[in-house]
Formats: sequence, C-alpha cells, structure tokens
Amino acid sequence: MLIEKCTCNFNMDEDTLLDSLYPINREKTVWNFCCQIHNNGCGRIVYGRSKEETIERWNNKEEDSDSLYELSALEIRKYLEEKEQILKNIKNF
Ligand SMILES: [Zn+2]
Repeated sequence: MLIEKCTCNFNMDEDTLLDSLYPINREKTVWNFCCQIHNNGCGRIVYGRSKEETIERWNNKEEDSDSLYELSALEIRKYLEEKEQILKNIKNF
C-alpha cells in the first residue's frame, strides 16, 4: 500500500515508518500513525481500525486530535465509528 508524504511534507522511510505506524492495543483493532516529532516530523496523528484504514486516512490527509492519545483503544474505536457515521449521513443528505 502506497504511503503518501505527511501534510508537513515529511516523507516516511522504512525506519521512520516502523516508528510511526503501529497498533496501540494487543488485539490490533486500533492503529496509530504519527508523524513523530523526534524524527523531525510535525506530530500529526491519524487513527484507524486496521492498518489499511489508517494508511487510507493518512493518505486522505485526515488528522485526529492529540488528546485522543489519552483515550483507551476502545474509546478511539468508538470515536472512529461515530466519525464514519457522520460521513455517511453527509453522503446520504
Ligand atoms: Zn508531518
């Protein structure tokens, strides 16, 4: 799956990608993709319910709030499902 540059223009290589894209729970039902500040990135965070969804949202230039980081994996999943529902409602409008 092709991974696009971050909105800050940071380009991931293999090493920074390993450090940036990973599941945040043991069940691997919530993933996080972060443009790590310690790799000279901008700190942008995107969440997803699978690796593919996370990359897709990353490539769509979406951004999730930093504060989500404080939430549990379950709460982040709920947040994503709500967001998806809102998008569906907009399309049906
Ligand atoms: Zn960035």
